[in-house]
Amino acid sequence: MRPFADSKDGSVAALGEVALLEKIRLWLGDAMPPAPEGMGDDCAVLSRPAGNLLAADSLLYNRHFDDRTDPARAGAKLLLRNLSDIAAMGGEPRYAVMSAFLPPATSLAWLENFCRGLAACAREFATALAGGDLTESTEGPGFSLAITGNADRPLLRTTGQPGDRLYVTGALGGSLRGHHLNFVPRLPEGRWLAARPDVRACIDLTDGLGKDLHALLRDGLGATLDTASVPLSAAARETARESGRSAFWHACNDGEDYELLFTVDGNADPAAFMRSWRAVFDVSLTCIGKLRTRDPAIQPVTDTAGHPVEDFSGYTHLRT
Ligand SMILES: [Mg+2]
Repeated sequence: MRPFADSKDGSVAALGEVALLEKIRLWLGDAMPPAPEGMGDDCAVLSRPAGNLLAADSLLYNRHFDDRTDPARAGAKLLLRNLSDIAAMGGEPRYAVMSAFLPPATSLAWLENFCRGLAACAREFATALAGGDLTESTEGPGFSLAITGNADRPLLRTTGQPGDRLYVTGALGGSLRGHHLNFVPRLPEGRWLAARPDVRACIDLTDGLGKDLHALLRDGLGATLDTASVPLSAAARETARESGRSAFWHACNDGEDYELLFTVDGNADPAAFMRSWRAVFDVSLTCIGKLRTRDPAIQPVTDTAGHPVEDFSGYTHLRT
């Protein structure tokens, strides 16, 4: 749906800020607690601990959604991206605040659907919308959402050790065929992982395995990737048929998988680990390699034969 109204009557400019905020309050419904915990005062007054995690993410017109996107899915995606970050830390979400940057021609009907989609997602994942900010802009619409959450033992990126096995949830690649708007943040899986002492490091895959794996490799760490075992989604294979690239390339570089990549102590029994996972989750889990001490003479990420993995860079922002 196009986010702009054809006439002023159907646009946010027809209402003005005060009436528009009332509408947004209505659309968000009980996903926003009553003031002062929700919208209505200068700050939200939180009734329960906000937790020890804080993150933010944004959603921009013609970058993360466009005229073909269902606005309710775009609203949900704004929150889902943040929830995936909370999942990667092994946390549970608590509060979120949204900043909206709206051109005056923004369609009221579009914004209503966007807000209702955001609210439904907030209810589903027990996140209280505690308020936000509204700004008139020349570009957009655009949104930024900040979220808080809590993790008793936050899972970090750079706490892996040489010998750790590398695991990934789900299947990767081809997210533009729909997954980027229809994914489930791995919150229960992240919490389960954080409760296990043999799980050492974790990240959610947003820019692609090819880039995000490097974030686990602090100084002195490398990784051996069993390229044949990387789980390829059906969408990655379909995309490969059209692009002429390999499905593996798409799995490494498309991004927006929102799966978890984590490391497990290499001394832990892999079969027992997999059995414990399958006893709780239907989500597939694949061991795709291991961490090793970095050899300065070779690339940080190599295949099992010791060769650099080709085309393994992922999506890089702000690159022309
Ligand atoms: Mg992340």
